[in-house]
Amino acid sequence: MKKTFFIRTYGCQMNFSEAERLRQLLKMSGWKEAENPELATALIAIGCSVRQKAENRVISFLKSYKNLKKNGTIFCLAGCTANLHREKILKQLPHLDVVCGPNHIAKIPEILNNYTAGKIVVATGENDLPFIECIVSGNNISMMVPITKGCNNFCSYCVVPFARGRLQSRQPESIIEEIKTGVEKGVRAVTLLGQNVNEYGQDFLQNYDFSDLLCEILRIDGLLRIEFISSHPEDTSTKLLKIMSENQKIARHLHIPLQSGSNRILKAMNRKYTVEKFLQVVETAREMIPDISITSDIMVGFPGETEKDFNQTYNLVKKLRFNELFIFKYSPRPMTKAYNLPDTVEKEEKQRRHRLLLEMQKQISNEILSTFTGKKCDILVERRSLKDSSLWIGRTIQGIPAGFKAHKDLTGKIVKVKILSHAEGILYGKEDEESLSQQD
Ligand code: SAH
Ligand code: SF4
Repeated sequence: MKKTFFIRTYGCQMNFSEAERLRQLLKMSGWKEAENPELATALIAIGCSVRQKAENRVISFLKSYKNLKKNGTIFCLAGCTANLHREKILKQLPHLDVVCGPNHIAKIPEILNNYTAGKIVVATGENDLPFIECIVSGNNISMMVPITKGCNNFCSYCVVPFARGRLQSRQPESIIEEIKTGVEKGVRAVTLLGQNVNEYGQDFLQNYDFSDLLCEILRIDGLLRIEFISSHPEDTSTKLLKIMSENQKIARHLHIPLQSGSNRILKAMNRKYTVEKFLQVVETAREMIPDISITSDIMVGFPGETEKDFNQTYNLVKKLRFNELFIFKYSPRPMTKAYNLPDTVEKEEKQRRHRLLLEMQKQISNEILSTFTGKKCDILVERRSLKDSSLWIGRTIQGIPAGFKAHKDLTGKIVKVKILSHAEGILYGKEDEESLSQQD
């Protein structure tokens, strides 16, 4: 059998990280990556189920290629969507051959290698399977490293605990080993992934938490930047902020989803913090790390969200001035507590609330980016621009994308850049002359 695969990924960074690992595993097992679905023997879709819209996208992707079935293409649905619906998804997608939850992704090469036409394989559930170990592809400057799986928080709207299971922390040795291997291959920046990285270690018998892990990662020679996503407001401790403030290798960036500015709605969401507590976390973070970038998520139209609740969110977002904000319209998800609540906010009203926040945030984000003009920033260079070969693209210590012109390859280096302008969320500047002359 010709062994070619095509992977289409939807959703969060965790899905993309899993897709990258699967890609490497398949290649190690003799599979070649196809340029498009038509050329693939196995068509794999990694789906996101956090919102109905995301789920619809993966389903319609798989439907749109079902005519390839007659050529013998193996159809595989992996990730959260597979785990949430399990066998039931076969009713909607009868042409599927493999349904594989996120914990089973490492088994896909074996499943495909032993595939028998007409025999459906469903591998779902079981959260306690090992993490996919140490897969780093070639020449990337940055890598994503999952440190936890699943979540125990059960926010009332969220499908993650059902789609990805309960919290499981990865052993520190395995994380350190993977990062060290990456650094040997040229990696300079790492993004630690988890639904709530601050909960790392809560399921260990020994006393070992996220701060301990960060301190170990900080000791890895050759690693220049450490980022992590997401942090839960309830668990963002002063201990963590202190480590961030004392170590220039840790990105000055916190992604702490607020979700709502109304205490009534936060309670209904089971978010376990209040607006006051959130304000305190942001205030402490900004006091301890003045150049920190704080980004967040907001959900509009949660069941029962009134105009008053929304106005509280709007005013809080205005006051907090996040660097960036991801705004979502509530969508009822199966198995969650909120699923049984009447979806009271009309579609058009959700749209209006979404638009109002988006417009305000766009202005705030632009104003914040303007404050960078004239400043000198340390840019970790990730790649050459695809459109302009003299333009180098990297990120500031806050994780903000930045571009500057240079005529030599600076990939993987930290370069001091004087910011001159910004456009569409990207800072632009030129190499700082003072530091250039110091290099000479
Ligand atoms: N673990 C992260 C969030 C992961 S999901 C945390 O707790 O902060 C990413 C975002 O999707 C959430 O922050 C939320 O804003 C949004 N989201 C989750 N479930 C949703 C739903 N049912 N409808 C709309 N947005 C949702
Ligand atoms: Fe979902 Fe809440 Fe867990 Fe985030 S913390 S993944 S929103 S249940």
